[in-house]
Amino acid sequence: MASSANTYQTILSELDAQEATLVAVSKTKPNPAILGLYEQGQRDFGENRVQELTDKFESLPKDIRWHFIGHLQTNKVKYLAPFIHLLHAGDSPRVLRELNKQAARNERIIDFLFQFKIAEEDTKYGFDWEQAVAFLEDSSFQELSNIRPVGVMGMATFTENNAQIRQEFTQLRTFFDQLKNRYFAQANYFREISMGMSGDYPIALELGSTMVRIGTLLFGPRS
Ligand SMILES: *Cc1c(COP(=O)(O)O)cnc(C)c1O
Repeated sequence: MASSANTYQTILSELDAQEATLVAVSKTKPNPAILGLYEQGQRDFGENRVQELTDKFESLPKDIRWHFIGHLQTNKVKYLAPFIHLLHAGDSPRVLRELNKQAARNERIIDFLFQFKIAEEDTKYGFDWEQAVAFLEDSSFQELSNIRPVGVMGMATFTENNAQIRQEFTQLRTFFDQLKNRYFAQANYFREISMGMSGDYPIALELGSTMVRIGTLLFGPRS
């Protein structure tokens, strides 16, 4: 399945009703494919490799908003800090402290999402609820003045079982609501729920996603 303008417009109209943001996941795809969507107005793109992203940042239009959606090693944060728009994979206190440090060096405030482990698969990365609470309630969190939490992110289990996907997205939604109530009730910037990919984004939208990360449907399969 190749990308088509038609698919792009259809997805946009599906997102429109909820004012959700489309992050076009362009990992492994060459610049001309990215420019194809750019020319149709797309500005939010997602990548998960540091070297690939810095190369693309250098060579593509500067008004693209780059989202980093994969696990980020601490020693590579410095390469992204000058320009990254949003870190979806805020998956440990360690990476967030380093993001704060590098954001300060670049005189920026960088937005991030708390990535939660919601899938049944045994992934290494992401907060669980207790870890997120411990981090937010640690007094040193208040000192991280160069990063700003704007919401949550999660990935459902890769399965055909829609009931399971639904349950996992509901869990993420509940984490969002609880964090919002406990810590960010007055913070209008804390409002993003990044969930939904090519295979499960309609379910994610139904359950309140504000940001979907779609690659395959837009660009075709990755080799
Ligand atoms: C690759 C990736 C996506 C996009 O997946 P598709 O199934 O191609 O839409 C979304 N989120 C993350 C974190 C990814 O790594």
